[in-house]
Amino acid sequence: RPVLAIESSCDETAVAILDASGAVLGERVLSQQDHLPFGGVVPEIAARAHLAHLPGLVRTVLDDAGLAVAGLGAVAATCGPGLIGGLLVGSGLGRGMALSLEVPFVAVNHLEAHALTARLPGLTADGAPFPYLLLLVSGGHCQCIAVEGFGRYRRLGGTIDDAAGEAFDKVAKMLGLGWPGGPALERLARDGDPKAHRLPRPLIGRAGCDFSFSGLKTAVAQRLAALPAPLSAGDAADVAASFQAAVADVVADRVGHALAVMPAARLLVVAGGVAANGALRDRLTTLAAARGIGFAAPPLRLCTDNAVMVGWAAIETLRAAAAAGIAPDELSVPARPRWPLEEMATRFAVGVQ
Ligand code: ATP
Ligand code: MG
Ligand code: FE
Repeated sequence: RPVLAIESSCDETAVAILDASGAVLGERVLSQQDHLPFGGVVPEIAARAHLAHLPGLVRTVLDDAGLAVAGLGAVAATCGPGLIGGLLVGSGLGRGMALSLEVPFVAVNHLEAHALTARLPGLTADGAPFPYLLLLVSGGHCQCIAVEGFGRYRRLGGTIDDAAGEAFDKVAKMLGLGWPGGPALERLARDGDPKAHRLPRPLIGRAGCDFSFSGLKTAVAQRLAALPAPLSAGDAADVAASFQAAVADVVADRVGHALAVMPAARLLVVAGGVAANGALRDRLTTLAAARGIGFAAPPLRLCTDNAVMVGWAAIETLRAAAAAGIAPDELSVPARPRWPLEEMATRFAVGVQ
């Protein structure tokens, strides 16, 4: 029977219903606009907005799917990592629904949901068999993850300062583009020369798969201060294009290192809002082709936060639990601001009773 999934870990309020095969029966995402005046996500406002919108959204998605609650076979909700207020709201609603419907509750790890999205039926030709390399690049995350099997994830490296999306947003702010500024910065960069400014490429060529963007961000600030004020449209476009090229170079170099330590990977998957960036996609496409492996970028609505990926992670969890002969009941798994992917390996030992 279908699974209803809830996502509320950051500033997207999302609900989806998937049938047991992974087909989407209904799906809605509300991107909270309440944060715009603050230039960033305000946790308390996010939690209240989830509380205000989630119950109605559940109703709407049930209607979209042509289902009554009694038709649900399981309820899933993101329980971490993320902003604790939102996680408590979404998982609280999910737990309450599962309890009253007497169906299993699945506690979904948000990072695992991003990691497994590529396996959604129909997204890739072969269903993205394990192992593959995941590059997760969003406003809050920037990391390379070896996806070796269901529940078997290894973080190969991550940012030591800003996430990629955070860097885009901060540079966009310096350019007066508003928030979140990634998409606007990419648009501006189209009119600029990526070679106009020689900007640093932090960590390039260094061992490992960590990322760093704060030096690049500072260099951009210095360039901007040195340019004649007020900033001309041409100068702004050149700075945007040069910054974007530097980010793409850094990410491609780091992903190259990650692929080198994961020779079994036949596929590179990119997820997170920054995966929308065309310059970055082009670099990753070229990189994957040069290594003779596949490249998968889910459609943008599945790259940014959504509930379809939460539902799919729940379906994979229910399948794995069934294969292990376990009846999943994760009502007591707490909402957590931090929930490292490595901990998923012990899930069926301690997480599922
Ligand atoms: P989380 O990190 O918890 O997944 P988030 O809301 O920070 O949540 P997403 O919603 O996945 O992350 O993505 C938003 C980020 O992606 C923002 O930082 C935004 O600027 C960036 N972004 C979106 N489109 C583009 C683009 N075309 N180029 C560069 N960055 C982009
Ligand atoms: Mg978001
Ligand atoms: Fe996310």
